[in-house]
Amino acid sequence: MTNPLLAHWDTDFEIAPFDQISDADFAPALDEALSQHKAQIARIAADPTPATFANVIEALETPSQGLEQVLSVFFTVAGADSNPQREELQRAFSPKLAAHFSEVTANKALFARVNAVWEQRDQLDLTPEQSRVLMLTHRGFVRGGAALEGAQDQRMQAIKGRLATLGTEFTQNLLADERDWFMELSEADLEGLPDFVISAARAAGAEKGAAGPVVTLSRSIITPFLQFSPRRDLRQKAFEAWAARGANGGATDNRAIAAEILALRAERAALLGYDSFADYKLETEMAKTPAAVRALLMDVWKPAKAQAEADAEVLAQMMHDDGVNGDLEPWDWRYYAAKRRKAEHDLDEAELKPYLQLDRMIEASFACANRLFGLEFAPLDVPLYHPDCRAWEVTRDGKHLAVFIGDYFARGSKRSGAWCSAMRSQAKFPKEQSPIVINVCNFAKGDPALLSWDDARTLFHEFGHALHQMLSNVSYESISGTSVARDFVELPSQLYEHWLEVPEVLGEFATHAQTGAAMPPELLKKVLGAATFDMGFQTVEYVASALVDLAFHEGAAPQDVMAKQAEVLQDIGMPHAIAMRHASPQFAHVFSGDGYSSGYYSYMWSEVMDADAFAAFEEAGGAFDPERAAALEKYILSTGGSVDPAELYTAFRGRLPGVEALLKGRGLAAK
Ligand SMILES: [Zn+2]
Repeated sequence: MTNPLLAHWDTDFEIAPFDQISDADFAPALDEALSQHKAQIARIAADPTPATFANVIEALETPSQGLEQVLSVFFTVAGADSNPQREELQRAFSPKLAAHFSEVTANKALFARVNAVWEQRDQLDLTPEQSRVLMLTHRGFVRGGAALEGAQDQRMQAIKGRLATLGTEFTQNLLADERDWFMELSEADLEGLPDFVISAARAAGAEKGAAGPVVTLSRSIITPFLQFSPRRDLRQKAFEAWAARGANGGATDNRAIAAEILALRAERAALLGYDSFADYKLETEMAKTPAAVRALLMDVWKPAKAQAEADAEVLAQMMHDDGVNGDLEPWDWRYYAAKRRKAEHDLDEAELKPYLQLDRMIEASFACANRLFGLEFAPLDVPLYHPDCRAWEVTRDGKHLAVFIGDYFARGSKRSGAWCSAMRSQAKFPKEQSPIVINVCNFAKGDPALLSWDDARTLFHEFGHALHQMLSNVSYESISGTSVARDFVELPSQLYEHWLEVPEVLGEFATHAQTGAAMPPELLKKVLGAATFDMGFQTVEYVASALVDLAFHEGAAPQDVMAKQAEVLQDIGMPHAIAMRHASPQFAHVFSGDGYSSGYYSYMWSEVMDADAFAAFEEAGGAFDPERAAALEKYILSTGGSVDPAELYTAFRGRLPGVEALLKGRGLAAK
C-alpha cells in the first residue's frame, strides 16, 4: 500500500488527508522523500549540458513533492498536536534533515553550476524576480559554506548538524517544563479572580487530572493570574515557576545547551570570515549591521526606561498603601498595573472580555480583509489533525485563492505561543500552486470562548501573516509569501493589528457574549485610551530581551549565558521589578533555531514601519482607503522576497520611516 504522505492527494484543494495518515507513516515516508530529493539534486549537479538559469536555478526551484508533503504535515502536527511518539520522531528527523540540506549546500558540483549561472548573470536577460532568486540562491550557498574546502568544510557540516539537534532539545525541554508544572488552588485561593480565570483554571485542572482548579504555565492562564490574584505568596510562587522554565536543573535544563549553541554559532561565523555571528546574521536583513540594531534599540530604551521607572514609583506606592512593605517585585507589577489601569482608565479585562468572543473576532479579521482586499471566506468541511481545527476557502471575485485553517485553543500537546505557517506556499512555477495557510494560537477554551485584548491582537497579528501568504503573487516558491528578511516579516502582521483598534470594527464585532449588545462607546474609548497603558513595562521587557540577544552574538561567545545576561541587564540599568520578556533558558526565539537569533529586535524594527504604514492610511482618508489598500497589496503583501525590503517600503510610502512614529505609537514620545 502506498504511504499516504507520498501519494498524490486527491482531496479538496489537495489538502493533506489527515484522516488517512498515522504516526507510523512518517519515518518511512521521510526516508523515501529524502532519497527522491537526493536523486533530483544529483541530476541537476551531474547535468552534462552547460549551466543555464532553467537547468540549475529553476530545477532547484521545482518542488520535491514528496518531501514538501511529509514535512508540511509533520511539522504542523509536531508543533500543534505533539505526543511522545512525535517528539521522538522529531528528535530523529532534525539531524537527518540538517544533514540532508547541508549536503545539498555542500555539493561542490552543484555549487559550481550555481556559480556558473551567477557569473553569466549579466548576459542572461533575466526578469527582476529571476535575478533576485539567482542572487539569493548563490548567496545562500556561499553563506552555507559551499565555498569552504577540506577540514573547514567538514567542521561546518558538523556544526550545522549539532546546532539542529541542540535547537530541538532546547524546545522540548521548555515544553516539558511548561507541561509538568502546575499549582493547585483551593476554593479560597480563587477569591478575587474574575470568572474567566476561574473557568480556565478549572478546565486546566480537569486536563491535568487534578482534583480542582490549577494555575499552569500557559500564558493564557498565568498572565491573568498574575494580574488578578490578590494572594502575593501565590503570585510569587507562580511567577518563580514561570521564570525558572528551562533552568530547573536536571534533564530539562537549557543553560548549558544555550552556551554550546552560542559557541557553535560564533565558530560558524568565523569560518565564513565574519567578525561575529551578529555580523553574519544581519548581512541579509534590512538593518544590515549590529550597530544599526543597537542604535535603534537604545533610542527606544532610554524613553521606555524613564517611563517604566516613573510607573514603578506609582505601583510601589499602591502596594505600600495596601499594607505590603518592601520593594515592588516582578510578581507585583502586573497585579498593581491592572489595579491602576482600572483606577485610571476604569477598564479591567474582566469587563472587556465578554465583548471579545473568539468567533466574532475571527469574523472581524475576515471582514477587514474583505473591505481592504475583496477576500471572501466560506467554511470548509475537511478532515484535519485535531477536532478543534477549522478551515475556510478563501476566494476573490469567485476565484479560489487559498485555504485558511485556524487552530485556536490551548492544549497540552501544543507548544506555547502563536504562529502562522504555510502548509503549502503560493507559486506559479512550474505550475500554479495556491497556498494552504494555518494560524495556531493558545487561547483558553470556554463556552463561548472569550479573548483578552492581547489575545485579540494575537489573532489579528497571525492573520496578518496569513494574508502575506495568501496574497502572495510571485513565480518561485523560495521567495513566496513570508519568505522575506526577518526584520521585514513582522510588518504585515503588526500592521494588521491596527485594524482591531478601528472603532467601527470593534463597534460591529465586539458584541457581548450574553446580551449581544455592541461594546458601549465609553468602553471602546477606554480600550483605545488604555492601548498605550503600561508601555514603559512592555517596551522595557522586550528591549532588554533584544539587547541580550544582540550581546550574545557579538564578539566571543559567553561561557556562562546567565552571567552574560546579568551583565547586559546591569549595563543598561534594568528596572528591579521588570524581568526580561524571555530569559535566556526559555528564549525559544533565539535558541530553538536560527530564525530570530540576533534578530529579536526585528519585531521593533517592524513596529517602526507598521506605525508609519498605518499612518499612511489615516493620512489618505481612513483605515479602509482603497488606494492605500491596493498599494499595500501591490508593494508589500504580494511581493514576497522578490524585491529588497527597503525598496518595497519606499515604493509603498515614498520614503523610509524613523523611530519617532514608534515612540508616538507607544506613548513614549518626549512629553
Ligand atoms: Zn509575527
